Amino acid sequence: MKNKGLLIVISAPSGAGKSTLCDTIIARNRNFRRSISCTTRPPRPGEKNGRDYYFLSKQKFQSLIRSGGLVEWAVVHGNYYGTPKAPLKKNIALGRDVILNIDVQGGFSVKKHFNNSVLIFVMAPSFKDLEKRLKGRGQDSEEVIRRRLLNAKNEIACLKKYEYLVINDKLNRAALEIEAIILAEHRRVRNISNTSFKK
Ligand code: ADP
Ligand code: 5GP
Repeated sequence: MKNKGLLIVISAPSGAGKSTLCDTIIARNRNFRRSISCTTRPPRPGEKNGRDYYFLSKQKFQSLIRSGGLVEWAVVHGNYYGTPKAPLKKNIALGRDVILNIDVQGGFSVKKHFNNSVLIFVMAPSFKDLEKRLKGRGQDSEEVIRRRLLNAKNEIACLKKYEYLVINDKLNRAALEIEAIILAEHRRVRNISNTSFKK
């Protein structure tokens, strides 16, 4: 019997590099799938609807909440974000690992509802690096960057309730650490559906 897939939650203060890390591990692991979130945030230059996010109006987002179409949702940096339920359930049933790039509120909610979930927190090596990366990304206004740096302190305060910490210093090394965590989680006896083996 095939094992169920895992829900891999990757959270980090904005600018720590979680989207870059998610892209890296998804590109090199055939069994990984990205969970594409819905948001009311406007698209950044180069972002595509259906690839990066489903960009929705506030009304559409609220009607999705009411119809039970989201596994979790939260207001982050002043916008709504949420995880669509149907693709998540389908991928898990097919034995695929779903990578969720979501905030800490979403992470706690997923952990509460799915026992096959893993919470990984990613941090830049320092606050200085975080600020440098946010500015270097060049896609957010000064005001948005300021708000994200302020929120970073609250997010880091939630680290203690996460299960793993990965420092994104060198990208490839951090990606390898996340892959190692996922492999170890697959080897947990409770995550193996059929423990019978040939004697
Ligand atoms: P997040 O999704 O956490 O907000 P991003 O993945 O968008 O962060 O990364 C923020 C910026 O930092 C991007 O410009 C990205 O290229 C850069 N970055 C990501 N990882 C590293 C790293 N290990 N070293 C240096 N720069 C990085
Ligand atoms: P960004 O606007 O930089 O793409 O994302 C802002 C924050 O929202 C990040 O912390 C990101 O992880 C979080 N986020 C993205 N999608 C979701 C989601 O579906 N649910 C929750 N709770 N947070 C999300």
